[in-house]
Amino acid sequence: MERLTPVEQRAPGEWQIATVTQIKDETPSVKSFRFALPMWLPHLPGQHYDVRLTDPDGYHAQRSYSVASSPLDQGEIELTIDRLDDGEASPYFHDVVVEGDQVELRGPFTSYFVWRGESPVLLVGGGSGVVPLMAMLRHKRRTMSELDMRLVYSVRHPEDVIYADELGDETVLTYTREPPVGWHGHTGHIDAELLRGPATGAVLAFVCGSTGFVETASDILLDLGMEAESIRTERFGPTSG
Ligand SMILES: Cc1cc2nc3c(=O)[nH]c(=O)nc-3n(C[C@H](O)[C@H](O)[C@H](O)COP(=O)(O)OP(=O)(O)OC[C@H]3O[C@@H](n4cnc5c(N)ncnc54)[C@H](O)[C@@H]3O)c2cc1C
Repeated sequence: MERLTPVEQRAPGEWQIATVTQIKDETPSVKSFRFALPMWLPHLPGQHYDVRLTDPDGYHAQRSYSVASSPLDQGEIELTIDRLDDGEASPYFHDVVVEGDQVELRGPFTSYFVWRGESPVLLVGGGSGVVPLMAMLRHKRRTMSELDMRLVYSVRHPEDVIYADELGDETVLTYTREPPVGWHGHTGHIDAELLRGPATGAVLAFVCGSTGFVETASDILLDLGMEAESIRTERFGPTSG
């Protein structure tokens, strides 16, 4: 069994030209992109990269994307991108980028939203907020599979579940709009009833999603008795899962 990679956080590398090696459809609006990096640096699960897109006139659009892969995947990273119809960068990735293309990336960026092997640990994700949590889950499985990690994941519809084929017994789902046929689990937004069990005994919680989702989940965890210092949050944007 391999141990957690002893990675020190440091300044991100320089901008580098990465090559897209694989594109996977996760859901109707989410794709995962694998990149080969010439100046790869190991990351801690939870860290993100910036991407920089430049049009022929020299105009730049720069966005942050969490790493979804384990740092054991040497030389490459996976980013998972939710397509926002009125967005700039995410539709470009979905509609234009193909395998073999080159994209400018920089990272991994220093963050307090990093998991260093603490357990029991609770992960709470809304929509694409599950991405950095998947880096933690994937890395845990490859390093310390017996370790206590629980994931609570909120999505709108059954077809919105990212990484559906990788979720196991550690995961509790809630469907906020429409559950699958025959669903007996939780429906509706996350609440104390849903988080109470997974939060019991957790020494650390990672909460990621839209601002509203993160605030709601953090408030519930505080009400359930977790200390504010034990709740780490990352906000992606205005929508919720
Ligand atoms: C640290 C960090 C990590 C992130 N990791 C991921 C990730 O792993 N996967 C991912 O898909 N996104 C992630 N994001 C969000 C990402 O950086 C972009 O904000 C997102 O892809 C939208 O960019 P865009 O250029 O397509 O849209 P923009 O042109 O920036 O915005 C278009 C419209 O959508 C709104 N908007 C912006 N962001 C969001 C959002 N996240 N949800 C809903 N509406 C939004 C804007 O207010 C605007 O109205 C992360 C953000 C941060 C800060």
